[in-house]
Amino acid sequence: MNERDSEAVAAMLRARGYRIVADESDCDVLLLNTCSVRDSAEQKAIGKAANVSARKKRDPDFVLGILGCMAQNRGAELLDRLPDVDLIIGTQKFHAVPGYLDNLRAAREAGVPVGETIVDTAEEAGSQNTIRDHELTERQVTAFVSIQQGCDMHCSFCIVPKTRGDERSRPMDEIVAECRSLAERGVKEITLLGQIVTSFGRRDFEHRDGISPFVQLLERIDAINGIERIRFTSPHPRGFKQDLVEAYGRLPKLCEYVHLPMQSGSNRILRAMNRPYTREKYLEIVENLRRVRSDMYFSTDVIVGFPGETDDDFAETRALFEAVNYDMAYVFKYSIRSGTPAAEAGDQISDDVKEARNRELLGLLEANSIRRNKLLEGKTQEVLVEGRDKKGIRFTGRTRGNRVVHFDADDRLVGQLVPVTITRSTSSVLYGELQLAIV
Ligand code: SF4
Repeated sequence: MNERDSEAVAAMLRARGYRIVADESDCDVLLLNTCSVRDSAEQKAIGKAANVSARKKRDPDFVLGILGCMAQNRGAELLDRLPDVDLIIGTQKFHAVPGYLDNLRAAREAGVPVGETIVDTAEEAGSQNTIRDHELTERQVTAFVSIQQGCDMHCSFCIVPKTRGDERSRPMDEIVAECRSLAERGVKEITLLGQIVTSFGRRDFEHRDGISPFVQLLERIDAINGIERIRFTSPHPRGFKQDLVEAYGRLPKLCEYVHLPMQSGSNRILRAMNRPYTREKYLEIVENLRRVRSDMYFSTDVIVGFPGETDDDFAETRALFEAVNYDMAYVFKYSIRSGTPAAEAGDQISDDVKEARNRELLGLLEANSIRRNKLLEGKTQEVLVEGRDKKGIRFTGRTRGNRVVHFDADDRLVGQLVPVTITRSTSSVLYGELQLAIV
């Protein structure tokens, strides 16, 4: 989500005549887009900003801005730690950044002393519709499309409703037009983004023949010529009703890869988290999806060490983690976020216990990923060729199940769907041979 927001701001700035430089030491304006989901992310951003702001002593015209979730969460209070920052811009004001920068620079060029830091963290109706411009690199084949912002769920550990505001969806026609324009520019794979994508349009559009607005959107993108694959993140388990589960069986471009945040496998902890499902319901969703697509790939988010999580609770999480057979997981040690209900709970879990539980799940994941990837050896997978790998020697792409594959290919194949036979694998990467003659 943050990458997408940064890209949209960069595109708006470029349209105003700004240039994006490759090295931060060459820039006149540096904007840090920040995350608040864990305290460590905020501390890292503050450390980086403090480091960069030292440059203002040598170069008073240098402009430093902090954008995004931490700006929204902390607002002007950030000035206690970062007094030299010029801009603090919240999550509903990304589109205002170019205007603020123009004013700041015009004032400086005119020799007008620039006063206070600009702090804008106000809510703005329709701000979700402003994340729409793209900065595509040459022959970019995958793109993120933001369809919805904010969340009304209020999970007790989560700061997102505070930093991203209430649930707001974009108009469906605008999203479809954006996807169509991306397809015309060569994009083959779209990942739809939102804090709770499966709730897309629930207040703005009617269900049609039992089909939710989110699935209607998937249907319309599936029909766009040139788009070959559709993914989305992040959904909520409660969004996986019959219509979405069945969509995996009838929409050919919808990839058989589901990110399904579990958070905990203990019903007691799920209740304390204010997550409105049980471990049984979660498993039923997984089974329903596997019934429609037996080759479904799953990833998840899990929090270990939530306040009050006992050994028995964790054992249930571990058991559910094993039962689902994940290909990928983001395991987080619970991080206190002030202002959330869980931060006030007694019975916080010690760092040692969190660490041990974290390691245990990561160990399971590693073993499982190795095992699942080994099963693909000798099999031929459809791979979307994204470009050269980091070393620039081989090519890289992804399977429909979102596994990264490295293989020898040719520049002409970038953007193509090609058959690749998997020859070896690690826990995170597959290696293969192209089953096409390159003429
Ligand atoms: S559904 Fe996701 S974004 Fe919304 S409050 Fe819960 S964890 Fe946060």
